[in-house]
Amino acid sequence: DQEQPKKPAWIRVKAPVSQGYKDTRDILKANRLVTVCEEAGCPNVGECWSQGHATMMIMGEICTRGCTFCNVATGKPQTLDAFEPGRVAHAVATLGLKHVVITSVDRDDLEDGGADHFAQTIRAVRHRAPGTTIEVLVPDFLKCAPSALETVVAARPDVFNHNLETVPGLYPEVRPGARYFHSLRLLQRVKELDPTMFTKSGIMVGLGEEGPAVRQVMDDMRAADVDFLTIGQYLQPTPKHHRVARFVPPEEFAAYEKAAYGKGFLMVSATPLTRSSYHAGDDFARMRAA
Ligand code: SF4
Ligand code: SF4
Repeated sequence: DQEQPKKPAWIRVKAPVSQGYKDTRDILKANRLVTVCEEAGCPNVGECWSQGHATMMIMGEICTRGCTFCNVATGKPQTLDAFEPGRVAHAVATLGLKHVVITSVDRDDLEDGGADHFAQTIRAVRHRAPGTTIEVLVPDFLKCAPSALETVVAARPDVFNHNLETVPGLYPEVRPGARYFHSLRLLQRVKELDPTMFTKSGIMVGLGEEGPAVRQVMDDMRAADVDFLTIGQYLQPTPKHHRVARFVPPEEFAAYEKAAYGKGFLMVSATPLTRSSYHAGDDFARMRAA
């Protein structure tokens, strides 16, 4: 085993103790909803939940893929729950969310990859909470017909997010089962289907990638017309997961952010604690107001 670098001071998080945190937890629990905040052991959970921000994970807690950075269990997934879209919508309305991020496990077992379930969830939230902006963070629909992606886009989420996760050279060890250019093309296709839809993607750093490869990913994303970018530090969920190669210092994140704006992204979040859904609502509202 190679030694892990020590966690630096800038990866610091507050313990989740506030009343707001508890209220969010209770509403999610009452609606039997799974969140990526908990599943991924996200370091921002105290802050996000205290403000009523949560990322819902639909279609169960078991994924058909086994990405080496991810804490979600791999195996045979659960049957789809036809009432889940309604429960998500109810929770969004009860939490009074301005913006919701909805994601899922990967469902290679379903012919449409779960696209219709995503579309139903978007429609249910729209109906129940018309003032809430909706961001979906979708799997790659690698084994599906093109109609799967079209189904999600036709439900008109406000932001369409799909993470590239890492640089292409690290795909075999970090994201086996996925294909870099397939994911990139998926993002580009969304813009072709609906040029008014905002697209978003993100990567983790500290997995062993080099700076020039990160900048190349930015160029690839811009070539695919991606609007928003997130870059955050990879943290190892358990010792069985991919090791942290390096803790990227805050000034390198700042340099990535500057470079990304220079390349034409409309909104960039690049800090050690940035996650795909971190401050997603605030950033989106600010960008729309600008
Ligand atoms: Fe949840 Fe995203 Fe906040 Fe993490 S950053 S706690 S995943 S909403
Ligand atoms: Fe985790 Fe998504 Fe990979 Fe499944 S596809 S293992 S949920 S990152």
